[in-house]
Amino acid sequence: MLVIALTGGIGSGKSSVSQRLDELGIPVIDADIIAREQVLPGSAALREIETEFGSRVIQQDGSLDRAQLRTLIFNVPEKRQRLEQILHPRIRREMEHRLKLLDAPYAILVIPLLLETGQNELADRVLVVDCPEDQQIARVQRRDGLNDAQMKQILAAQVDRATRLSRADDVINNSGSLSELIAAVDKQHRSYLHLAKINQ
Ligand code: ADP
Repeated sequence: MLVIALTGGIGSGKSSVSQRLDELGIPVIDADIIAREQVLPGSAALREIETEFGSRVIQQDGSLDRAQLRTLIFNVPEKRQRLEQILHPRIRREMEHRLKLLDAPYAILVIPLLLETGQNELADRVLVVDCPEDQQIARVQRRDGLNDAQMKQILAAQVDRATRLSRADDVINNSGSLSELIAAVDKQHRSYLHLAKINQ
């Protein structure tokens, strides 16, 4: 089965694209959702995180204190790397497992930080959703109410637009309206169906 990794900066339109692909009947596996499932109370990954970062990253109810963890790894590359060593193999195994259960012409893995973390071993192609940075910022501020400083911090942790585009096999342009985005997704979908057929 053809496997496509979908990525893009914050607010570029990944969720909007996945939602349309889901409507078209294409299975969508989201790395962020899997990552959250892997650290549920009682999980092996959460125990490892606690051993590594201490009980201060565990909240009263036993769940992971993400804000605290983010603070601890912010600007400490070796700590961030430790966290990735705990999470990435598990996320990868779970994605692999879910892919094996599928019967579809192609499947989508949504991996927001694909290019930042090199998690593209499972994918045949990289699909980037792209729009100019000022549009990304405006959309995220409307969606999440973030201020300029928070937005800048998030953008600084992501690869820049040119780097992302240079790593793409396919690009969906999301600088227009939502209906233009849907048309672009539908076109890409037809192209993947074709590709899946000739690769059979
Ligand atoms: P991501 O998942 O990459 O962070 P989203 O798909 O959530 O991005 O899009 C960010 C926000 O912008 C959402 O509120 C979404 O509804 C809105 N949005 C996405 N694409 C468009 C568009 N072409 N026109 C207007 N709003 C858009």
